[in-house]
Amino acid sequence: MSNRYIETCPVGCAAALATTDVVLPEGPLLRCSACAQLISQISEADYLQSMQAFNDAGFNLPDERAAQRRARHAIQRLDRIRALLGGRLDRRARIVDVGCSRGDFVAAATGAGYEAEGVEPAPQIAAAARAAGRKVHTGLLEAQHFDDAQFDAVSLFEVVEHLRAPRELLQECRRILRPGGIMLISTGNAASWTARAMKARWDYFQTQKDAGHISFFNPRSMGLLAERAGFELAEVTTGRVRFAEKSNLPGPLFIAAKLAAEALALPARLYGRGHDMLAYLRKPSVA
Ligand SMILES: [Zn+2]
Repeated sequence: MSNRYIETCPVGCAAALATTDVVLPEGPLLRCSACAQLISQISEADYLQSMQAFNDAGFNLPDERAAQRRARHAIQRLDRIRALLGGRLDRRARIVDVGCSRGDFVAAATGAGYEAEGVEPAPQIAAAARAAGRKVHTGLLEAQHFDDAQFDAVSLFEVVEHLRAPRELLQECRRILRPGGIMLISTGNAASWTARAMKARWDYFQTQKDAGHISFFNPRSMGLLAERAGFELAEVTTGRVRFAEKSNLPGPLFIAAKLAAEALALPARLYGRGHDMLAYLRKPSVA
């Protein structure tokens, strides 16, 4: 067990990790007994290998429908950030998207009137983003040496589930945010009905297939992480329910699963059981 890449709860709890019944190729997921964070037992070598897939510029390119959905989400999220920032500013709000991939959110933010830039560690993907005319820096956020309190907003989409020590990254985000600034985090919800029902078949848990997902949040552990990194939690929402992949169910069963999922979409949102989680954090105005 000493071979594990993650030894202790990534949220920062000192509590014991217990074995769960979600059994993956690298062993059962572990659960923090304090915050219920789920944690992969993957080795460091296998983790680094799975992350390599990220630097392939063709990795995870969305199809047209997914791209349209993402564009809609980007507009909704930018509107929400602006509302949480208090509506009107006397200048353009400055935002940085950390782990920005090809810079689609950077482009959406620019289109919505923000002064937007991105940071992307995978060099080929960052280069592709720049070739598409987006302001994207190559490397980790820490390597950019942004000045303190430069940004009104920071976004972190589908990043925290890849990290052994997410608190360090959140603290760097907090440093570059102005007091009162907003941080938006998206990740999967390990307390979702989808995760409960699908267990090891939930694609989000597939470390090897999905390039390095190793740490799985729930609304409570996300709140704890925010607090421990020095943020206030403005709001957490969850949405969407899914019980099947088209590829592993015969047609009629897939349709039944899809209908059940659609019927549960609203209650999932109400009870925090949707499989996509969005957390809006605020840097306190007075330190
Ligand atoms: Zn924990």
